[in-house]
Amino acid sequence: MSSFDIDRSQLVADLSAMIRTPSVNTFGVESEAGAEAAMADLFETQLRALGLEIGAHEVLKGRRNVWGRLKGTGDGPTILLAGHLDTVGVDGYCGPFEPHVKNGNIYGRGACDMKAGLAAYLEVIRILQRSDAALRGDVIVAGVIDEEHAMAGSTYFGQHGPQLDFAIVAEPTQLEICRAHKGQMLMTLRTTGLAAHSSMPQSGRNAIYHMGAVLTALQSYADDLRARPADPMCGAPSLSVGVIRGGDNACSVPDFCEIDIDRRTIPGESSADVMAELYAVVEQAKQSVPELECVIETPFLDLPPLDTAETSPVMQAVINASMAVIGKSDVTAFPGSSDAPNFACPTVICGAGDLAQCHSLNEYISIVQIEEAISIYTHAILELQTL
Ligand SMILES: [Zn+2]
Repeated sequence: MSSFDIDRSQLVADLSAMIRTPSVNTFGVESEAGAEAAMADLFETQLRALGLEIGAHEVLKGRRNVWGRLKGTGDGPTILLAGHLDTVGVDGYCGPFEPHVKNGNIYGRGACDMKAGLAAYLEVIRILQRSDAALRGDVIVAGVIDEEHAMAGSTYFGQHGPQLDFAIVAEPTQLEICRAHKGQMLMTLRTTGLAAHSSMPQSGRNAIYHMGAVLTALQSYADDLRARPADPMCGAPSLSVGVIRGGDNACSVPDFCEIDIDRRTIPGESSADVMAELYAVVEQAKQSVPELECVIETPFLDLPPLDTAETSPVMQAVINASMAVIGKSDVTAFPGSSDAPNFACPTVICGAGDLAQCHSLNEYISIVQIEEAISIYTHAILELQTL
């Protein structure tokens, strides 16, 4: 087993400071914009203390991505170590911002998802700075906003941030190596009818009946999706209808009906493909209801799938690092969605902590596992210098 000399007390101090700094994502609630601001300030201070070259983007009002660059000699790949600054909420959580260590674990909101990842990156930089190994490429450590809502931070970083060759994202995977996950599209479909008094329904057009035709067509589309060839990592694509709204009262023929749908995509499927399929579903519904008027709105969430090649150098480097550090390398699909596809370069998700812990009311992470993650990242970065 190969590992590096890790400063555990510094690691615990860094992570504790992060847990003490609330960064709850309020899901776009305007009055609480800037939810990650204090955490971005703290992370910038921590990156500055390492002597890194600092960058930042204000992505949304009061909400910024921050990063630090450790410069290499200039003739190697630029590697991003990325994590999100925000956490989920704390309703019902007792002492979420009071970090404490018990039985080798550290507790608090964000400990696992994913402030441990950010703290791990700081230690990786310290190890690289202490080591004699010459760094040819740059290493960039970034904290991005809004992962828990719409991933505005990573999307912006991928489009406007520094040029990258490879990225590692420390979402909790129990150190499994994830090169793929499904994408997610959420959108509203709306049928429009003609209001009339319900005593004379024939004088109106019932938008709820019309939505019924759309639902029937969607259900057979969902069955078709399930029967499609599965992606070897992610399985089959899917569709679920989660919400329906329509009409005002029982005595009126409803002039509108809306549904919200969740379409999970697999590698190889684009948003444009999905939209074309949904238009075809509406056309199919029109065969039974020719006067159907149905609009498909622009998705209110559109997250791409992750699809990094097994043969990518970053995958190989993380696999080799994992073998060297923990003696195994389990390659799987990440069960949720993440920032990873947004960085516009081959990206691997691998981090300490259990996803089951993430959004719980008693969040914790194993300190030993964070240390293993630190050794894996350092090992992989050093291997990528030999490209
Ligand atoms: Zn996360």
